[in-house]
Amino acid sequence: MTTIDICVHCGRQCQIGTGRFVNRIPADADFELLDSDGNVIYQDGEYRDGYSCADCQAEAEELFEEMTNE
Ligand SMILES: [Zn+2]
Repeated sequence: MTTIDICVHCGRQCQIGTGRFVNRIPADADFELLDSDGNVIYQDGEYRDGYSCADCQAEAEELFEEMTNE
């Protein structure tokens, strides 16, 4: 299994020097991911092991709060 230095949720790089390294957390995903031009980065069902950037963690927390506030 390869571990990649990108956010598995938004596809942005998060290695040292990008400003997203500090707050990244290990994460994995297997859903389809498109870049900003609509090109497929990962097919739906293609598993990758990488990181989640701070922006996506915040989004996930918001979603989680919405789900738990019902
Ligand atoms: Zn992200």
